[in-house]
Amino acid sequence: NALYKVDGWGAPYFSINSSGHVTVRPHGAETMNHQEIDLLKVVKKATDSKSIGGLDLQLPLIIRFPDVLKNRLECLQSAFNYAVKSQNYTSHYQGVYPVKCNQDRFLVEDIVKFGSAFRFGLEAGSKPELLLAMSCLCKGSSESLLICNGFKDVEYISLALVARKLLLNTVIVLEQEEELDVVIDVSLKLGVRPVIGVRAKLRTKHSGHFGSTSGEKGKFGLTTTQIIRVVKKLYECGMLDCFQLLHFHIGSQIPSTGLLADGVSEAAQIYCELVRLGACMKFIDIGGGLGIDYDGSKSANSDVSVGYGLEEYAMAVVQAVKFVCDRNSVNHPVICSESGRALVSHHSVLIFEAVSASKYTVPAMSSFDIQRFVEQLPEDAHLDYNNLSESAIRGDYEACLAYADQLKQRCVEKFKDGSLDIEQLAATDGLCDLVAKEIGVSDSVSTYHVNMSVFTSIPDFWGIEQVFPILPIHRLDERPTKRGILSDLTCDSDGKIDKFIGGESSLPLHELEGENGTKYYLGMFLGGAYQEALGGLHNLFGGPSVVRVSQSDGPFGFAVTRAVPGPSCSDVLRSMQHEPEIMFQTLKHRIEEFVHDEGDMGGAMIAGGIAQSFHNMPYLTVGSSCGLTAAN
Ligand code: PLP
Repeated sequence: NALYKVDGWGAPYFSINSSGHVTVRPHGAETMNHQEIDLLKVVKKATDSKSIGGLDLQLPLIIRFPDVLKNRLECLQSAFNYAVKSQNYTSHYQGVYPVKCNQDRFLVEDIVKFGSAFRFGLEAGSKPELLLAMSCLCKGSSESLLICNGFKDVEYISLALVARKLLLNTVIVLEQEEELDVVIDVSLKLGVRPVIGVRAKLRTKHSGHFGSTSGEKGKFGLTTTQIIRVVKKLYECGMLDCFQLLHFHIGSQIPSTGLLADGVSEAAQIYCELVRLGACMKFIDIGGGLGIDYDGSKSANSDVSVGYGLEEYAMAVVQAVKFVCDRNSVNHPVICSESGRALVSHHSVLIFEAVSASKYTVPAMSSFDIQRFVEQLPEDAHLDYNNLSESAIRGDYEACLAYADQLKQRCVEKFKDGSLDIEQLAATDGLCDLVAKEIGVSDSVSTYHVNMSVFTSIPDFWGIEQVFPILPIHRLDERPTKRGILSDLTCDSDGKIDKFIGGESSLPLHELEGENGTKYYLGMFLGGAYQEALGGLHNLFGGPSVVRVSQSDGPFGFAVTRAVPGPSCSDVLRSMQHEPEIMFQTLKHRIEEFVHDEGDMGGAMIAGGIAQSFHNMPYLTVGSSCGLTAAN
């Protein structure tokens, strides 16, 4: 627990049991007495085709826990309910989920279902997101908000107005002033009275990585001058009653409640001014930004942590809105938030396997080897070697390393001009490594090769160096004897993870067991937001397989309620406009020609193996379903 700080970032959902396995309590603190779900058992079950209806699920694997999602939603709602009650706030909280954080159909449907009792709605930022939000909300509460953000064209605005016609509680939030003319025009044509909001460009600035969204020069929103022009135009066309919502978003991962309260107060003051100017204001939408403590440090000075919890967040918001509205004698608005990261991060775990580990071992060199090597050195390298030896005898290790480096560079030059052979070059490397090892600066970190793609599954690590908690999901009752970095399957030097929570540049890991030993599974936690939608297809590695897991009364304490294999090689090829069926026919024809010329050398089996490879996932295949090995 302490080694990987699980209590810090994982409570109340994740912990480690007495067998050294990571376990999940999907209902959080409420289920302290229930059986916990053992992640290793889930992986075993999900990858055993007999127990999941003959499906051949390969790793990497995303395990989704809908109950965790439900718990997060309920905790957020109760934090606001409590703040509203304790502050005598006279309106209520009504959140929306920004679907961009993870557009997975079942996840969005779950949020609508779980949130229906407290009018939880959805936020969309593009046309396809709006289409999915419209269709999901049809099954939810009619009061749930459908917030339309993002840049809009006529088609987007028409869709949003049609949604209002279908009695969905839709608000068009103006992201740019020009959108207003289109809203007025299309709403008149369609005969729909729109509900309009405005995204304000606040002066309050979030200084962390995600702060580029905020401040006067921020990318999004309307300035105060533009907001006043919107009021004027709506007044002139008799539509000022349509202006009902003020929105802002100062950026994701807001580090402290101090900054949050500052932003909310500024927005609440704009809200009150809009009331004074005659708008029919009802909602203040505080955007996203409710942060996640990825490293468990509860620090307000880091992009991967925040110095508050759900309760403090809700209290700071309600207090700030109430204070400003009371000061201006304005009725308390409905408070809406667009929390994405805080809602969905915990609900999924990415499981992947370490398939091999390599560590450069310094070759053993006897004094005889060294002597022989020295004799072979080119004339001008002798001086470097002598200097190196003398500084070693003096104990001047810095000079030692410098002379070793000089010796190495000289020998590399000699190799390049053809006067040193490859064995002599290898001996030079060996000698220099030996010096580094003796002095204690040699690298003792191993590279663990993992069967996944960083670009596909943890794109924020690659793009913005966002760290996530990563740890083995078993063998945690054994002390890890090594430290390692993780290197993925892509042929790209960026495809590695060498930064971990707590500022560590390597991870405590166990020795991989031999070929017949058990597999070594690692889990990446808190990645339920943004990673799936942002992930790319580098090297044509597609997304992971996915299972949904719920707590149950059976012997394992869980049931796999849905299992979906990840995209196959055919699927990812198709996404780049290749045509796998035609590709296969071309290869099959080539095999037939070969059989015709050379006689049948297992042509049918080779074709079968290729067919299987198109069908398999692009990751390393272990076991009987491997295409070409199966054919051999
Ligand atoms: N709302 C808007 C307008 C956003 O741009 C974002 C993300 O940056 C969100 C909500 C979600 O933010 P978070 O995931 O930090 O809650």
